[in-house]
Amino acid sequence: MKLDRRNFLTFMAGAAGGFLLTPVNWKLMDDVAIWTQNWSWVPVVKDGARAFTNAGCMICGGGCGIKVRLIDGQRAVKIEGNPDNPLNRGGLCAWGAAGLQYLYLQENRVPGPMRRDRKTGVWTRLSWEEAVQGLAKALKEADPEEVALISGRKGSTVTSLLKGFMAAYGSPLYCEPADGRDVQRAAAEMVFGRPSRYGFDLERAKLVLSFNAALLEGWGSPVRCMRAFEVWRSGEPKEQTRLIQVDPRSSLTASKADEWLAAKPGTETVLALALANALIQAGLVSPEAQSSQGFEELKGFLAQWGPAKAEKITGVAKDKIEATAQAFGRTQEAVALSGQGHGGRPEPLDLAWAVLVLNLLKGNVGHPGGLFFTPDPPGLEIQGADGPAVDPLHLARETASGKKKLKALLLFEANPRFSGPEPQTFDRALDQVPLVVSFSSFWDETTLKSDLVLPDHTYLERWDDTETPLGLPFQSVSLAKPIFGPKYNTRATIEVIIELAKLVGRELPVGSAEEAIRLRVAALQQTGQGLAALEEPPAPEELLAAGPGPGFGSAEEAFEAVAGGGIWYQPGPGEAPGQPSFLSRPKVEPLAPEGDEHEYPLELAVFDSARVASGFYANPPFVTKILEDDFLLKKDVFVNLHPTTARDLHLAEGAAAVLETEVGQGTVRVHLTQAARPGVVFLPAGLGHRAFDPTIKDKGVNAAVMVKPLEDPNGGRPLTFLARAKLRKA
Ligand code: SF4
Repeated sequence: MKLDRRNFLTFMAGAAGGFLLTPVNWKLMDDVAIWTQNWSWVPVVKDGARAFTNAGCMICGGGCGIKVRLIDGQRAVKIEGNPDNPLNRGGLCAWGAAGLQYLYLQENRVPGPMRRDRKTGVWTRLSWEEAVQGLAKALKEADPEEVALISGRKGSTVTSLLKGFMAAYGSPLYCEPADGRDVQRAAAEMVFGRPSRYGFDLERAKLVLSFNAALLEGWGSPVRCMRAFEVWRSGEPKEQTRLIQVDPRSSLTASKADEWLAAKPGTETVLALALANALIQAGLVSPEAQSSQGFEELKGFLAQWGPAKAEKITGVAKDKIEATAQAFGRTQEAVALSGQGHGGRPEPLDLAWAVLVLNLLKGNVGHPGGLFFTPDPPGLEIQGADGPAVDPLHLARETASGKKKLKALLLFEANPRFSGPEPQTFDRALDQVPLVVSFSSFWDETTLKSDLVLPDHTYLERWDDTETPLGLPFQSVSLAKPIFGPKYNTRATIEVIIELAKLVGRELPVGSAEEAIRLRVAALQQTGQGLAALEEPPAPEELLAAGPGPGFGSAEEAFEAVAGGGIWYQPGPGEAPGQPSFLSRPKVEPLAPEGDEHEYPLELAVFDSARVASGFYANPPFVTKILEDDFLLKKDVFVNLHPTTARDLHLAEGAAAVLETEVGQGTVRVHLTQAARPGVVFLPAGLGHRAFDPTIKDKGVNAAVMVKPLEDPNGGRPLTFLARAKLRKA
């Protein structure tokens, strides 16, 4: 292989995350190819005309571009990264590469519309006409205020249509769980008076200070972050970007960082405030920040969070805090960011606010290597699609307790019976709803307990899009398209919703999924700016400086380019939502997990791994296969424990133990590691499925079941990564 710049980056992106393009994983792909010859549900590839089609991967919100290799125009045999996509530049994560298993794995796919008899539990097939007509009849008979819809996705055309449908139908119960994007918006609103998203110019930064974001394990746009890491490590050692990772455990990101600050879980905000305090004390504050409204008041507020006090609370030494502040303040292109694991679970608002304040004090907004605002890219104009969403946990608690009566609950790409928060509450809530309808493509835990399934196509079989991933410093819309006809008797949820709207006497402004996506692209074309992935993008560190792109002459031209390349992007700086003010501040307090300290002497911290999917998607067989034996051994998941904590509990390496919290219990094995903070037990999210195929079903413990959500004192979002726990020999 010719090792040009692009190939080098492709190779290194795989190496950074331990994902693809390392010999081990190619060997595994080989293994997969060999095993699959013996699996009846995998089409055995006959030779034929080969072609590649570009599209966007929709498995996570990362926005990667893919190239699907097709034989005879319809049999997909391989997914590769698209080198012309500016986010992943030819790289893919393990889930993206295993995308065909989501398509073909018959055991996990719902084959067509199905109805379940609640008494017998027996599923029967029905026609699409019966299914849609039956649902429309139920919706017409119900009071719209007693019908709810939970969407596990946000920021896409399908979710705008779902929201618009619920508004047109008359239901106020469109629900979306909060995630890192919502916390960003709330932090920006606190500082600028208006919500906005923002991202980070990681490629040009010379110092990155990350609070808990799993940068190399799936945060935001995962492959883009791995690419950025390779940019950081590609120059002379003294010119390389310095990564400082705040993390209670030496995660993969922390272990690859130049420095690891092992703050006690839940105290990260105090650390960020102490750094802000130290910046001010050292006179390392930008003139813009000093002249911003409320700067003097902020100084007064930060005075209570000095490094010495922070040391007692966080466990990070005062000298280390001061040295980090000096490094952050004195490095010209320095940026701070925060996140919880992959970003699918919200972090505390006070942390996002404190980190935004650190960036403002630094004065890096809109500067190379700094923070950039990313307004939402334009989309379909749908009445009611801009309204607020309801918190699904709130709805589930009220429904489970009988306080709220629901006649029907619709679920789109949401599996709350597994991923929660509080899966137990969702389980009880489903018992109270006479009609539970799932649009899932897969037999996930929630779908198994539904009454009616109207299965969606997979992302390789439908029109779809996803907006600017978490952390990207410019706007983007990635686009999926039907690469071949549906493999099962499925229908695009967008089209089901359009038909349902008609049947209940309402109207949506589009007639098909393709039309909806065309209108979305037309709205993007109207900005007069943008690029598509049909040519090699500018180098990562030159992308933002290259500007927003020339746009497209017509809507048709834009559609050809965006559908052909799988992404529209506009690498220009977005405008700040207003003038910053430090007058509005959140309530700051270290998180105190619930539970009696004597009965539950340990803290349980949930973490996201680079090789376990923890949202709507479950791991496909290929990805579970690459988990090490000290992560998952047969059916047992390992918790990480510091050797001194293990010694106090009389637990040896590999010992079976019972992990217990106020709300859950499970059997685990113990992995002793210096990388774990003493007194804390670390459990990965995404295992413990009770659905899907045998490669992932009944393996490990579901972390969501173990954690009683804490209520964020600022805004009430459920925080689901910390609990009190005990561990004893099994
Ligand atoms: S990071 Fe996300 S979008 Fe990219 S390949 Fe992986 S699953 Fe797909």
